[in-house]
Amino acid sequence: MSIDPICKKIVPPTTPFISDYGGKKYHFCGPECKKKFDELEKNVIRLKRNLEEKERISFGKLRKEIIKPGICTLCGACASTCEFISIVNDQPKLIGPCTSCGICYNQCPRTITTEEGLIGRLRFGYSAKTAISDLKGQDGGVVTSMLAYALEEGLIDCAIVTVKSEDDPWRPIPIIAKTYDDIIQSTGSIYTHSMTMEALMSSIQQGMRSIAFVGPSCNIDAVHKMQKSPYGFLHMFMRANILKMGLFCMDTFSHDGIKEFVERKDMKLEDIEFMKIRKGQFEFETKYDIKSFALHEFDAYRSSSCKFCTDLTAENSDLSFGGVGSPQGWTTVLARSGIGYEIFNEAVDSGYIKSKTLEENEMERVLNLARMKKVQMYALNRRKNV
Ligand SMILES: Cc1cc2nc3c(=O)[nH]c(=O)nc-3n(C[C@H](O)[C@H](O)[C@H](O)COP(=O)(O)OP(=O)(O)OC[C@H]3O[C@@H](n4cnc5c(N)ncnc54)[C@H](O)[C@@H]3O)c2cc1C
Ligand code: SF4
Ligand code: SF4
Ligand code: SF4
Repeated sequence: MSIDPICKKIVPPTTPFISDYGGKKYHFCGPECKKKFDELEKNVIRLKRNLEEKERISFGKLRKEIIKPGICTLCGACASTCEFISIVNDQPKLIGPCTSCGICYNQCPRTITTEEGLIGRLRFGYSAKTAISDLKGQDGGVVTSMLAYALEEGLIDCAIVTVKSEDDPWRPIPIIAKTYDDIIQSTGSIYTHSMTMEALMSSIQQGMRSIAFVGPSCNIDAVHKMQKSPYGFLHMFMRANILKMGLFCMDTFSHDGIKEFVERKDMKLEDIEFMKIRKGQFEFETKYDIKSFALHEFDAYRSSSCKFCTDLTAENSDLSFGGVGSPQGWTTVLARSGIGYEIFNEAVDSGYIKSKTLEENEMERVLNLARMKKVQMYALNRRKNV
């Protein structure tokens, strides 16, 4: 005797309604159940082929990202869509040969499988660099060039940017930039939290109404919250047009921690012209050389809030800017809102910025880093002593 997999009735082995799937015979009570099963099977095969063409994802990825860190909800979606997965001792286990079709990964409610889920909504992705001679930015100098364009065209009254303290090198100081010279001072990244909201509120109190605001996702979220929350200050009585320019961000570190580290390595903060984090290394550039250290050497100085942050690309901004994805010396730009898209393209048309479309493989690098950041929460137990 066999069980019809569709209606679950017992059917005799003599039934003429039989389908062969994955080397196994399935018996049906009648033509309708057989038809339903065959159609389902066709769809699964089509879905598998589609996924296989895009990327090969095996059960190992589901095990590494979801099952091992202990965030599997035991919903059974993976086991119900693959005959090689079974729930054993309250855990999904592989019990057959995995073909890396990615089906299980794409059903699991804990994985993130869409572009929007990883980096938010966007209109267009670019790789861009400044066209202003002598401007050296952190990557392509695009943030500074856009601000220069917006200020010179009278589109903004001021910009909220972060500069290095003159008295205490590399301590971030948020300022209200009203001139080209103010803006030029702010090129480069300071890997420490900057209290940008104080400068924003003070610019509104001074009567500025069109403001460009630069910061990583936690800063952009503060503006967004104050605009959207029912009792938010920027919603209730301090209204202004704010162009939100978000910076990609993986981590920040305490200023005193970086200082202590640098001095231990016989360097001085005042001699450092640029800091950059790339490919797991923290680089310090002086007039004479570049010294790099493994990023994990800075674990003790990492801001605790960053361990809980899952937004790499500042999803609530009008435009986002980052180094990942683009070649060295270029900035990756994600245009999200209509106004962000327009102003960026106007700055390109007016000769402040050179830009090209972000290629698929470049976007893939952004998505991979964004995925790493989204799932870091899952690995929190492993990071909690950091
Ligand atoms: C803390 C931090 C972490 C980052 N992490 C990553 C990352 O992991 N991956 C990645 O691809 N990109 C990261 N970035 C973004 C990247 O370093 C560049 O800022 C971005 O690519 C824009 O480069 P640019 O040359 O166009 O900018 P520039 O023209 O050099 O302009 C830089 C702008 O950054 C602002 N700024 C600098 N430091 C701060 C700060 N602490 N808080 C608020 N604003 C600041 C300045 O005000 C200035 O307007 C990070 C940036 C910061 C500030
Ligand atoms: S659905 Fe099955 S065969 Fe496909 S990746 Fe998952 S475990 Fe492997
Ligand atoms: S689909 Fe995901 S959450 Fe559901 S049982 Fe499988 S691994 Fe766990
Ligand atoms: S990692 Fe997140 S919380 Fe930390 S500075 Fe960057 S955006 Fe802010």
